[in-house]
Formats: sequence, C-alpha cells, structure tokens
Amino acid sequence: MTSGMENLPQICVDTTDAFTATERFGTREEVIRWIKEVRINNKVTVIISRSDTEMGKRGRSNKIIFGCDKGGKHKISDSGTQSASKKCGCPFKIRSTPAKDGSGWKIDVKCGLHNHGLPDRLEGHSFIGRLTTDEKQHVPDLAKRHVAPRNILLSLQDNYPENVTRITQVYKHKSVIQKEIRGPRSEIQHLFKLIEDAGYVYWSRKKDDSEVVREIFWAHPDSVKLLNIFPIVLVMDSTYKTNKYRQPLFEIVGMTSTELTFAVGFAYMESEQTENFCWVLEKLRVVCEERHVSTSDFDR
Ligand SMILES: [Zn+2]
Repeated sequence: MTSGMENLPQICVDTTDAFTATERFGTREEVIRWIKEVRINNKVTVIISRSDTEMGKRGRSNKIIFGCDKGGKHKISDSGTQSASKKCGCPFKIRSTPAKDGSGWKIDVKCGLHNHGLPDRLEGHSFIGRLTTDEKQHVPDLAKRHVAPRNILLSLQDNYPENVTRITQVYKHKSVIQKEIRGPRSEIQHLFKLIEDAGYVYWSRKKDDSEVVREIFWAHPDSVKLLNIFPIVLVMDSTYKTNKYRQPLFEIVGMTSTELTFAVGFAYMESEQTENFCWVLEKLRVVCEERHVSTSDFDR
C-alpha cells in the first residue's frame, strides 16, 4: 500500500482574497472570531499555530500566527502508510499583530495558497446566507457612508431578523459593488476619474517609459484657497496600509487662525526617499504660488 500522496496532481487553491481584511480589529479575540468566520465559509481548516502575548520578555511580541492544519511535513509511518494527520506541508500562513499606530489588530496574509484541495468549495454552498434583493441594496447604502463591514452585518441582522449572512459575504458583495462602479477602469484610473470629476488640482508622474504611476498629488480648490489664506502652519505626515500597492499616503494639513485644521493636499508616494518628497513638496509650492507672489510684493 502506498501513501498515495506522491500520485496527487499539483493542486493550488488561493484563499488570499477571503482572508484579506483592510480593517482593524479591536482585540485578539475579535481577530480569532473573524478568522473562524472566514474559515467556516471557505471550508478551510485554519488553526492557531502560534500565539504570543507580550510579557516584557525580549523577542516576544504580541502576535497570532494562523496556519493550515495540513501545514508541516506529512509523516509516513513505519509500514509506509499515511498517518492520520494528513499533513502535506501546506504553506498557508496568516500573521496578526497590533498595528504600530494603535488602531487595532491587523491581519497580514503571508501566504494564501493551499497545496491541497478544499472540500465543497462551491459558490452554491454559501446559499444559506446569500443576500436578498432588499439586503443587497442595504449593503451599498451603508458602504457609501464608510460603515465597516462588521457593522454592516450587525445592521443587516437588526433590519432583517431572519438574516444569516456571514461577514465574508458582506465583503464579497462590497467588492462586487466596487467593481460595478469602477467598470473597466483599473483602481488607479478610477482614482484619476474621481479626482477629475471633483475638480481637484492634481499632478502625477510615471516611471520612465511605462504606465506605472510613481506619485500622485491632489488638492481641492477650496483647500488651495484656505492654504493661501492660512499658510503659516502646515503639518505633514505619511500614513501606511491604505492601499494594496503599499504606497505611503502623504497628508498635508493646514491650520486656521482659530486653530481649526483643514486638509491641504494628499499624495501617494512610490517611496519615502528625498527625491519623492522633493517632487511632492514642489507641487505643494505650486499650489502656494499665489502666496509667494503676494509675500514678495509685500516685501518690496
Ligand atoms: Zn492548506
């Protein structure tokens, strides 16, 4: 009797999308609850392979590592038969740690691939929790107001008591809606369209001889007006993990004489090298230009 493992064709199932969460979770327990939810929906047996709690010891940080129960080497018993564990070195791995900015726990899919088949992974099986027509309309209404998926789910359950939708179906429907809105445009093309439609002042630059966008800077005309009235204090900082391209989002905030803040402009940056900052600040200077003219007039 052979183990049978060697004869299996190379299988590869990607569950990256299902386990990708851009939102943050309040606690370790919330992370585990969410993973369990996605796990049930996708019929994947995800296990906690490591859970560390910060205890002041060096090298021990707060984290949870999830793996597939088929991870690790498969054991062949002395008789050559496959052991009950059915491990086949599945590379699936998720890491969850508290975000450095204190916004909560984040989930990183280190590897969403499984090197084995998943049972009954057909769309029809999520049939029980599928959204009705009314419910389908409810999701975009809330999504438009930037309600987090977990709160959309709570709202669905409040409004439709028979609802048994799972969080992954909310995520799925949200991405369907976003794709419908975007049409044939790529995400970046859609961003340009939104920027143009709203009448923003913007610049972008591409990598030499390619269609790859390096930087985008955009500012609302009203912001530019405010900036020219209150040009004294500007606060600038980058925020991360806002997009799948891993581009830092550089934000410029101004302050009025009554100590109220206002958004001046935003930029997606390729990286945080001097050269990238120079390009962005150069554009900021252009929108400040009016002010330059008036101050130099004043000096004279
Ligand atoms: Zn697996």
